Amino acid sequence: MYELNLCHLYPDLLNLYGDRGNIIALQKRAEWRGIKVTVTNLSLGESFIPENYDIVFLGGGQDYEQEIIQEDLLKEKGNEIKNAIENSKVFLCICGGYQLLGKYYKTWEGKEIEFLGALDLWTIGGQKRMIGNMVFECDFLKTEACDGKIVGFENHSGRTYLGTGVKPLGRMLKGNGNNGEDKLEGAIYKNVYCSYSHGSLLPKNPAFTDFLLTLSLKQKYKDFVSLLHLNDDLENLAHNSMVERLL
Ligand code: GLN
Repeated sequence: MYELNLCHLYPDLLNLYGDRGNIIALQKRAEWRGIKVTVTNLSLGESFIPENYDIVFLGGGQDYEQEIIQEDLLKEKGNEIKNAIENSKVFLCICGGYQLLGKYYKTWEGKEIEFLGALDLWTIGGQKRMIGNMVFECDFLKTEACDGKIVGFENHSGRTYLGTGVKPLGRMLKGNGNNGEDKLEGAIYKNVYCSYSHGSLLPKNPAFTDFLLTLSLKQKYKDFVSLLHLNDDLENLAHNSMVERLL
């Protein structure tokens, strides 16, 4: 029997707009295929041992929570997180959690807050909040059964810019994404997937959930080939109705 261990980092501080829905979606879609999932919550002061986990999740948080986490992230867990990323561990990081993996966050007043620097990207605080439903398109999700469109919800004032060391997760079709300027959304580095879309991301986009499950199962089990097919009629109706509404 296949098993997956999920680590939810800072669930008490980074969990906005139903971000835990992403954990539930991963767990349920694995369990519906007979794959056992264990979720471990780790917060301030607790050691992160990468070998214990197959998928690591970081949710969103406001500037206030990000400042609380910064020291623990850089000093307590930072080296292990960076090593795990370099060793191709699967990560999903949302909004504030996404920003925290970058180099720094420069506030609107000009204060520069050092972040982990695991990914070649940085964030500049803006005066305008970027709020609303979004649609973006991901080439890596395109198959005969999936058009690669992701629907989600964003709410941030930070504008993120990507360096040459990372690729965007997708191209914006509706909404702001990384910064409202370059039409890019999220970031990919090795097996780290970052997005500005919150807790509705995986529940509303089963193809992305299955992509992450497949990636982590292939990392862990040499004999793993593919996930069993599920009936996604309801999920697809929800997904497609949002695409139609927004585009
Ligand atoms: N502090 C960040 C911003 O407003 C993150 C917000 C969030 O995670 N929703 O840009």
